[in-house]
This record gives sequence, C-alpha cells and structure tokens, in this order.
Amino acid sequence: MARVALVTGGMGGLGEAVCIKLAALGYQVVTTYSPGNTKAKDWLATMKEQGFNFKAYPCDVADFDSAQACIAAIQHDIGPVDVLINNAGITRDTTFKKMDKTNWDLVMKTNLDSVFNMTKPVCDGMTDRGWGRIINISSVNGQKGAFGQTNYAAAKAGMHGFTKSLALEVARKGVTVNTISPGYIGTKMVMAIAPEVLETKIIPQIPMARLGKPEEVAGLVAYLASDEAAFLTGANIAINGGQHMS
Ligand code: NDP
Repeated sequence: MARVALVTGGMGGLGEAVCIKLAALGYQVVTTYSPGNTKAKDWLATMKEQGFNFKAYPCDVADFDSAQACIAAIQHDIGPVDVLINNAGITRDTTFKKMDKTNWDLVMKTNLDSVFNMTKPVCDGMTDRGWGRIINISSVNGQKGAFGQTNYAAAKAGMHGFTKSLALEVARKGVTVNTISPGYIGTKMVMAIAPEVLETKIIPQIPMARLGKPEEVAGLVAYLASDEAAFLTGANIAINGGQHMS
C-alpha cells in the first residue's frame, strides 16, 4: 500500500511542488488548506486535470483542536500518516519597534505551534509502526535572522529546536525528524516582490545569482522522506544557493 504523505499548506507555492513530487513517487498525498481558502476546490480540479488525485482537508494548523480533527478525519478516511511535512507558514513582517502582540502571536501560532499541533496526533502512530518521517520547513531567516522578522525568525529557529529534540526521542523507533531551511524560492509569494527589489537587493545576496526553484526544495523533501534517508535525523539542511552557510 502507498505510504500516506501529509503536506500542510500544500496549495501554496512550495507545498504544491512537494505534493506533485511525492505523488509522482507513488505516495498517497494529502494536503490541508486554511478554512477560509475559497480556491481549494479549483486547485483540486486543476491538479486533477494534470493527473494528480490529491485529497485535501480544511485545517487551521495554528489551532490545536482543528489540527486534531483534521488528522482524525485523514486517519479515518485514508489511513495513518507516514510522512508529515510541516510546510504551512505565514509572514507578518515589521520592525520590532512596530511589532504588536497580534502579529507576534499569529506568526508564532501558525509557524511554530502548528508543528506541535500537527506532529502530536501522528507521532505515536509512527513510533508504534516503527517507521515515519517528519519534515519541518523552516527558513534561512531562522538561521541568520532578518530585519523586520523577529517573529518569523524566532518561530523558524524554534522549529529546529523542536526537530533536534524530537529526533532524539524517536531515533530508535524508525522515525526521523529533520528541518529544511530554504532561502529565497521563486514562489508566487516571492515573485510578488517588486522586480527591482529582487534584482537589486535580493539576488545580489545569493552567490548562485538566482532564486531557488520549488522543485529543488521538493526534491530534498522527497529524499528525506525516502528509505535511503533512514540514517539522517536531527539535521537542518540549508537550500539557499550559498546565501548563508553555517
Ligand atoms: P505560500 O504563502 O505560497 O503558502 C503557505 C501555505 O500555508 C498556504 O498554502 C496556506 O494555506 C498555508 N497556511 C497559512 N496559514 C495557515 C493556517 N493557519 N492553517 C493552515 N494553513 C495555513 O508560501 P510558500 O509556499 O512560499 O511557503 C511555504 C513554507 O516555506 C512556509 O512555511 C514558508 O515560511 C517557507 N519558506 C518559504 C520561502 C520562499 O522563498 N517561498 C523561503 C523560506 C521558507 P491556504 O493557501 O489554504 O491559506
């Protein structure tokens, strides 16, 4: 039977590429979308036209109860989750001087609490079955910090503390936990940045002098999800064109 891979935020730029890659490799791919997402049906239809039979469930990853209900529904309808990709995330950038509690809390809940909320209901099943993969999508800015991103960088750095600690706890049970820290990837979110800002401010920071491709991150996710990656755990893998080396 095909392994079940759950990609949170799979209808976003990076998540979609991950869904497509994992489906091509034979996984049963399930994704989540925000309860307020009005384009979910259209996305599923477009994907179906392209030959991808994705399942999708509404879920506010920032909300514990919503996450539990989502996982329960997936397990009931499809089966246990073998691979969890915590990909859903948001930014609410502003300097610390202007950062209010609302934007702090929203980013922490969506980017960090979500990792607890989604991992909690699947992790025991993985260890019981003796196989599992948890892949957390962080960011280069969680590694190096970024102006205007105290909230985002804190949440993304926190993800990796979670990764390392859980990796230790489940290492003997066939479950690996890893972080991927992408640099600037050419998703719609990044392509919405004004072209002159991209050309003059962002690309010059990247030794490869280009944005990453969502497919390049998806390829790394696929490797971490594979049996070949069984000995790789607790790592934070940078994929950033050389922008930041730690
Ligand atoms: P997108 O904005 O395209 O996608 C983000 C996804 O997160 C959306 O599908 C959205 O779902 C989902 N999401 C947001 N809030 C919630 C919520 N409360 N509950 C459920 N789902 C939610 O961004 P990207 O694809 O570019 O980014 C994906 C991940 O990669 C993020 O974690 C981001 O921080 C990280 N990243 C991205 C980089 C880049 O250059 N693009 C660089 C480094 C890291 P919906 O559409 O249904 O609202």
